[in-house]
Amino acid sequence: MKEFDLIERFFERRGRQRKDVIVGIGDDCAILKVPDNKRLAITTDTLVENVHFLAHTPPRSVAYKAVAVNLSDLAAMGAEPAWISLSITLPDTDEAWLESFSEGLYELLEYYSVDLIGGDTVKGPLSLTITAQGFIPENCEIRRSGAKPGDWIYVSGTLGDAGAGLEIAKQGLENLNESQDYLVNRHFSPTPRVMLGNALRRVASSCIDVSDGTLADLQHILERSDVGARVHIGRLPLSDELVDVVGIDDAVNHALTSGDDYELLFTVSEEQRGQLETILGNCDVQATCIGQITGQKQKIDLRLGDMPFSLPKDAGFEHFSG
Ligand code: ADP
Ligand code: MG
Repeated sequence: MKEFDLIERFFERRGRQRKDVIVGIGDDCAILKVPDNKRLAITTDTLVENVHFLAHTPPRSVAYKAVAVNLSDLAAMGAEPAWISLSITLPDTDEAWLESFSEGLYELLEYYSVDLIGGDTVKGPLSLTITAQGFIPENCEIRRSGAKPGDWIYVSGTLGDAGAGLEIAKQGLENLNESQDYLVNRHFSPTPRVMLGNALRRVASSCIDVSDGTLADLQHILERSDVGARVHIGRLPLSDELVDVVGIDDAVNHALTSGDDYELLFTVSEEQRGQLETILGNCDVQATCIGQITGQKQKIDLRLGDMPFSLPKDAGFEHFSG
């Protein structure tokens, strides 16, 4: 199959959803219309086979996740997604693979009314780079640098599921029970928290999406904001499925240290807490307060009840303990 036929068949087949795409796929550049009163938010993520996803990952999931992680970055700053471009390196033109990949891609694009506006297609070891662009009203972006001592720390959804799902997926995808299947799905198909991120503009003082792990990503907020944090282990939102499959101790370890959940971790001042409750009701998203920002610069103080809590050494995050 020729490159142009491939692009037309798998990356251009659904037509356009958006009026702000003046020129889309098929010319040398895409030409786009940015609303006058908004700012453009741009983010890029690359996924390489055997590095960012397992070799036997279903193609539908490869595409879905690549889009999801980019939309999650937009969400974490409060941006509303508009367009993506896709650079893909393919080892061959396996039509069944591309068909399934294209399905996964368009599933999220159609759900969020995002258009694929261009890209590049080359031959080589499987990898893909997506650039996503979105809009934010002027001065409304939620940065990592805005957390203040006394702010409350929240996370959306549940933590640790994707990390446990990855471990299960590494063992193979056959004969999984319901809980294992749920966790694997959380790994393959993370939910970008787009509605929540948009609603948190003017309410959250800082925000990040959990890609590296809760503690690692919280640490990014602490560094940028020059503050510390107290986190209550007993308040971490854990799914029943996670506790069912790995037990409570490993569930806590996963929740704190394994990545890829793509939940939003954000801070809210005492004054904005009422507003947050309203937002959570409207977005129909669960978010849990797991602790509070402190003045102890860049230090994470883990607590179990009133006692200091240390992660097991093999969790790989000893420097956060006590
Ligand atoms: P050029 O040689 O000018 O870079 P290409 O032959 O690479 O053009 O691509 C032709 C058109 O197809 C361009 O509009 C490009 O943006 C689009 N395109 C190429 N690969 C992809 C892809 N994977 N997804 C979406 N659009 C693509
Ligand atoms: Mg090209």
